[in-house]
Amino acid sequence: MENRRFTTLIFMLAKLHKIQFSVRACSIPHIKASFPYLAPLNFNELMWQLDELKTFLSVPRKILITTHSKPDGDAMGSSLAMYHYLLKKGHEPVVVSPSDYGMYLHWMPGNASVLCLPGDKEKALKFLKEADLIMCLDFNNYQRTEYFSEALRNATAPKMMIDHHLEPEGFDIFRLWNPDACATAELVYNLIEQLGDVNLIDRDIATCIYTGIITDSGSFRYPNVTARVHRIVASLIDAGLQHTEVHTFIFDTFTEKRLRFFGHCIKDKLVVLPQYRAAYISVTREEIKEYEIKTGETEGLVNYPLNISDVVFAALIIDREHIVKLSLRSKGSFPANEFSAKYFEGGGHLNAAGGSYKGKLDDAVALYIKGLEEYKSLLMSM
Ligand code: 5GP
Ligand code: MN
Repeated sequence: MENRRFTTLIFMLAKLHKIQFSVRACSIPHIKASFPYLAPLNFNELMWQLDELKTFLSVPRKILITTHSKPDGDAMGSSLAMYHYLLKKGHEPVVVSPSDYGMYLHWMPGNASVLCLPGDKEKALKFLKEADLIMCLDFNNYQRTEYFSEALRNATAPKMMIDHHLEPEGFDIFRLWNPDACATAELVYNLIEQLGDVNLIDRDIATCIYTGIITDSGSFRYPNVTARVHRIVASLIDAGLQHTEVHTFIFDTFTEKRLRFFGHCIKDKLVVLPQYRAAYISVTREEIKEYEIKTGETEGLVNYPLNISDVVFAALIIDREHIVKLSLRSKGSFPANEFSAKYFEGGGHLNAAGGSYKGKLDDAVALYIKGLEEYKSLLMSM
């Protein structure tokens, strides 16, 4: 605990001096349990290494696993994979989701045990108080946990982070971070392997890891899918994964209304802007209501404009209850995350990012087009 307080102090001092920790440099490709910025203080000595984590986990622990708000397939996949693994190791894990999530993920093994805010907030806060360790999966700044962020920030248990997003905020005592990983679920596999427990991966763990990998990698299509990812998946199949079943659960469980909503968006709402090699679909609250679109049911829609050969950047812009939410996707090296951070207080990965806009839907669309104008030369050079 002494170390943790000292670490926090160092982070605060470092922030004051605007020191950037998010440099990608580590000789071991999948274990990044240290800050690359080592001068003037050795952060390595302040953070747990793998051996310290192993020692900590050598006795039964209460472990709270949490992820980002509106969790997607990777967030739930990595969290539930970790849940099943820890359970098998004799720990007492609980997964806390900061919000509800799409029905397309409710089939997952362990789903019934998930504490979901706001309904389960009391139970989640009680467990948070008792927890020996907090595992933060698929996010690296408190803001992404929305309604859970304050409680998480104030929690006293040590936190570890497993993630593949850029620029970690720095709240963790143990870090497994690789922005080149195609999914956090890939890193969960790596950790289990590093802990010497690949033989413990059973059908449930394999199913959850596979869910994370396919949903975050566009079913193996993004450039961050390596030969190793395919080897991991081969070992998951050996462990009992039924991959066809998982694809059916995730991708072939639309309601008729949802499919018609996709049709409506593609036929009537898609705007193609050839002068920017870009496109967008904007969705009003009325349309969400008319087609009875629930949490998670717009998932996948943003990819359709990219089916057009000349479109390299696409946005789905949705008027939500209190905010306009954006999903951004790109082809090649166009930086969707940089665009999102610049105009929509967001971020993410090179080809898949998201953000938000506080204001009217039309104004969000106008800002998107303004951004396209500013990025015009890069878009046209793609
Ligand atoms: P999606 O479009 O599927 O909601 O999000 C795609 C990716 O963008 C996510 O995996 C996440 O990395 C990132 N992302 C989405 N929304 C936000 C946001 O509001 N802030 C940040 N920093 N990243 C986001
Ligand atoms: Mn992810």
